[in-house]
Amino acid sequence: MSLYPTDLSPQNTAEEQQTGEPQKLSSAPPALEVDGIHLAFRKKRSLLPVLQDVSLTVKPGEFVSLVGPSGSGKSTLFHIIGGLLKPQQGHIRMHGQDVTGERGHISYMPQQPALFPWRTTLDNVLLGQENAPRNHTAAHSQYASERERREEARQWLEQVGLGPFAKAYPHTLSGGMQQRAAFLRALLSPQELMLLDEPFSALDALTRAEMQQWLLRIWERNRRSVLFITHSIEEALLLSDRIYVLSARPASVVHVVDVPFPRPRREEITLDPRFNEWKRTMTDWMRQERCRLDGGMEEHTESARKSPTNNGADQYE
Ligand code: ADP
Ligand code: MG
Repeated sequence: MSLYPTDLSPQNTAEEQQTGEPQKLSSAPPALEVDGIHLAFRKKRSLLPVLQDVSLTVKPGEFVSLVGPSGSGKSTLFHIIGGLLKPQQGHIRMHGQDVTGERGHISYMPQQPALFPWRTTLDNVLLGQENAPRNHTAAHSQYASERERREEARQWLEQVGLGPFAKAYPHTLSGGMQQRAAFLRALLSPQELMLLDEPFSALDALTRAEMQQWLLRIWERNRRSVLFITHSIEEALLLSDRIYVLSARPASVVHVVDVPFPRPRREEITLDPRFNEWKRTMTDWMRQERCRLDGGMEEHTESARKSPTNNGADQYE
């Protein structure tokens, strides 16, 4: 029996896979369509190309992950989707509407928790709801009173072990706790599409595994549309319906994986031999990209020598 679904093998190019992607869900327009995005940052007199013709789709209620080498441009793509940056080419559409360069359409969790130090944990968690444009306010929170929203947020804090810290200020929380609060803030924001940028990277292994299970349960109950950045192939395979693998910078989509494991998923799936086959295959892809990135860096040894503390992708900063 072949390891790979018939429409998908690691040898296929992303283009082949995308055109061969089964249109199995409803004909509703995608929750998110990233269409042919190009972006280069200006660096003094030169340009640093970061995203090169990146296209991807998140259908309503899908959990989609983006994996790629550090510095490949994943967070930059999120900034474009969130309207913080304008691409030089390409479009961002949500539910069929062109929203390129517009803010307020997504709930976003950045790599750093970015909690306001002067607000309590509870008030930080409520921030996403306060700041959301009215037309994006989902039914559940549109009609909820301030008191109901606070109560709901309090219950969520209990569920992630932050109950006793509801009135505490961020500087008194550990990094992992801050990350959980930031995650809740995104989860409780009313916009339908959530962008999560490596939300669990600051957590220790055990807490991370617990949070993954917790996220799986929440998501399988609520089916929000999610675009998730992670470094962890295992995390992507565990959580996602589909995974886009990005090349080294300038990033383009080099592989698309329709994750074949049924839902609901639990941790035991990681013991399935097929899970480990996929993990190995994808790890090889990532290794190839890492090699390409390291190879590409040799062109810039001069600037690297001038800045010995910089390594890998961030040496341009
Ligand atoms: P990733 O999230 O995949 O690790 P990023 O999107 O953060 O990567 O960064 C991609 C590349 O773009 C890196 O080389 C980074 O140094 C560069 N970069 C990111 N933001 C800026 C910016 N505002 N100005 C210039 N270069 C940037
Ligand atoms: Mg990043």
